[in-house]
Amino acid sequence: MITGKDLEDMGYFDQFDLNKPENSTVLADYTDWVEKKIVTIGDERLIENTLGLVGEAGEVAEKVKKKIRDRNKISAEEIVKELGDVLFYVTALANYFGDNLAIVMEKNVAKLDDREKRGTLQGSGDNR
Ligand SMILES: [Mg+2]
Repeated sequence: MITGKDLEDMGYFDQFDLNKPENSTVLADYTDWVEKKIVTIGDERLIENTLGLVGEAGEVAEKVKKKIRDRNKISAEEIVKELGDVLFYVTALANYFGDNLAIVMEKNVAKLDDREKRGTLQGSGDNR
């Protein structure tokens, strides 16, 4: 099993370092690209984007289910394609609420790093 430490040692996380100009540009370009694909507004957008996110997350779950059930007839690439669809709706919702994907990532990193420091990565509850 590959651990987070293994990925860190391989330099995997460098691609997410938002202090690197090339990374922040990619995220900003993607955020703008997503925004140009949105065809609904207001509450209709919120509902459409939320249902889109849940639906695409369900598609990821379905592919993973089939990968297990059918013993790897579903490729990793097929699952990654669905993750892209999830990312689209995450980005759309981040935009809707006035943040963007980079800010969502930074806040999530800060939250999970804090939980790790306090030994509360495991357990339950939003505010642990
Ligand atoms: Mg899909």
